[in-house]
Amino acid sequence: MIRLNNWRWCLLLLLLCGGSSHAAQGQNEPEKMLNVFTCYKGEQLHFYAQNLQVAAVTTTFDMQLTNMTGSTHFPFTTTLAGTQTVELFTLAPLNHELEYNYSYINSTTIGSADAVPDDTWVYALPYAPGSSFLVSQGYHGTFSHTGPDEYAIDWKMPVGTPVYAAREGLVVESKDDSNRGGPWPIYQNCANRILIQHPDGTVGIYGHLKQGGNKVKVGERVSTGDLIGLSGKTGYANGPHLHFAVFKVRNGAERVSLPVKFRTADNPELTLVSGQTYKAAPDDRQQRQNTVFLATAGPMKP
Ligand SMILES: [Zn+2]
Repeated sequence: MIRLNNWRWCLLLLLLCGGSSHAAQGQNEPEKMLNVFTCYKGEQLHFYAQNLQVAAVTTTFDMQLTNMTGSTHFPFTTTLAGTQTVELFTLAPLNHELEYNYSYINSTTIGSADAVPDDTWVYALPYAPGSSFLVSQGYHGTFSHTGPDEYAIDWKMPVGTPVYAAREGLVVESKDDSNRGGPWPIYQNCANRILIQHPDGTVGIYGHLKQGGNKVKVGERVSTGDLIGLSGKTGYANGPHLHFAVFKVRNGAERVSLPVKFRTADNPELTLVSGQTYKAAPDDRQQRQNTVFLATAGPMKP
């Protein structure tokens, strides 16, 4: 795969070659993530993709070829860094005397297939320091924490509860325009949410958020403990709660959630379980600031 330094070069190629442009949409993603365009150089058909997101995205091409061969094996999966444009692969006819053609299905989703999860990382509880909430559905919960969501956590909390970043990272999706939800899968795509891409390439998802409650925009960097939004009950939800999971993508259509540990006010590291209430630890940053203040203030005079 040739990585081009400048997407403008590819757009120039597009204009010069008069290549076709396809809008590719990821699974359950109404927003356009990728521009795919092609151009012929001699008999070779070159495929390029432009990532329209600030997030890394992973894309998969499943290609049906008739009398053509590709420079790679299909299905072909690759990850593009935020806003990057790359050449993906080329196709060429096998026998020029005969008819040849191609068609493909493309799926694209936010996240890096190259992510190497730091499984020693301990997450903060995603709510205000000192506040406590009940885990209403934990790992492998039978209501909805199955398949790719098997390692998600739900905290029961009133609509409008402030939600805090459980780990630092880049905001790669922020949706808060929905006011619909209910206890049926038909509401799956109505959930407001925030996605934060972590330094190790994994992505944290905060789901079912309140309409108009998001405090962060795509492209913003957040620190652990930053206020990011308000909880709600949008999407596939049987009541007001916050859904949180950390995931890694496998390809353009599939992702897996990862088991993670949390620190609480009472425990530096533990796996949360359904039916238990957990109190958020004091804000680390506040502690650090106090330490610095005490260090610079010197000993107290009587
Ligand atoms: Zn959930």
